[in-house]
Amino acid sequence: MKALVTGGAGFLGSHLCDLLLAKGYEVLCVDNLITGNEQNIASINTDRFSFIRHDVTKPLYLEGKIDFIFHLASPASPIDYLELPIQTLKVGALGTHNMLGLAKEKEARFLLASTSEVYGDPLVNPQSEEYWGNVNPIGPRGVYDEAKRYAEAITMAYHRYHGIDTRIVRIFNTYGPRMRLNDGRVVPNFIGQALRGEDLTVYGDGLQTRSFCYVSDEVEGIYRLMMSDYKLPMNIGNPEEHTILEFAQIIIRITGSSSKIAFKELPVDDPKQRRPDITKAKKLIGWEPQVRLEAGLKETIKYFKTILE
Ligand code: NAD
Ligand code: UDP
Repeated sequence: MKALVTGGAGFLGSHLCDLLLAKGYEVLCVDNLITGNEQNIASINTDRFSFIRHDVTKPLYLEGKIDFIFHLASPASPIDYLELPIQTLKVGALGTHNMLGLAKEKEARFLLASTSEVYGDPLVNPQSEEYWGNVNPIGPRGVYDEAKRYAEAITMAYHRYHGIDTRIVRIFNTYGPRMRLNDGRVVPNFIGQALRGEDLTVYGDGLQTRSFCYVSDEVEGIYRLMMSDYKLPMNIGNPEEHTILEFAQIIIRITGSSSKIAFKELPVDDPKQRRPDITKAKKLIGWEPQVRLEAGLKETIKYFKTILE
């Protein structure tokens, strides 16, 4: 079986490539390296793996069969998509269109990596897949949120109109080794700051919440969804919810750092609460997270220590 992973040189994509290779798949990774890093796939040592440097907003013509397309290509960290607003909109719209076209041509099963950001600043907590969200389309985060909402819409349209076999995963905050230390997301920021003995920058009052899923759990959920026959969006994330202030204190404790907390301005439209309802994932694909926060953070801290040395 052959799988194509777009965004395969990124954080999540590279872990997904590893998982697919371990399961015996032939894997083709397509990435333009705009936020990814070839280092993430450098240690893969099998002739079942290949890499093409390509921007998926441009059409991609490939020889031979493809059985599965995992479409993960997109800037994902708020800092990245604020710096790359047009690329973010294009990869969600044109990139998803191109990859659906490829799925149609190859009669491949297609999975879209969507996001909890489709719920915007949610007015219900936890968020179930039936909630339509509270997104500001013209705010700075709108470039990402609306690109992903459009991507979901075109995926469902290709499914309904062309009969393409599609899946949509709504990924909630995921962390682990291979995140970029400077990608601006809270996990690398706090761990980097704690390890350097700098203040941890908590935005706003720190009472906004997030729920963090370890990467091995996330890619297992994505894989199981692809292998299921469920066509509607499914949340994959960890339902254990923390305030960001609590999270900063956890990082200080686990790293044994003497860092203090410094409060900074809250970014525009920063969601106040985020926690997945994973009833569907539990029931339909038998998935729930296995890795406890402290264990996942220890692995992640170990990784960041190696790149800080
Ligand atoms: P990442 O930035 O590490 O990976 C994204 C990859 O996509 C990078 O390697 C980048 O170079 C590539 N890419 C971007 N635009 C491209 C283009 N036009 N053509 C080819 N490649 C392109 O981010 P990540 O955290 O691994 O996120 C992967 C996917 O998961 C994204 O679609 C993101 O929206 C989604 N997601 C991630 C999280 C999370 O917490 N990590 C949460 C929700 C959704
Ligand atoms: N955050 C923070 N300090 C940082 C980075 C992020 O307090 O140095 C907060 C951010 O405002 C948000 C949460 O942490 O409320 C998660 O931010 P992240 O960028 O990781 O992703 P988001 O969940 O907002 O997409």
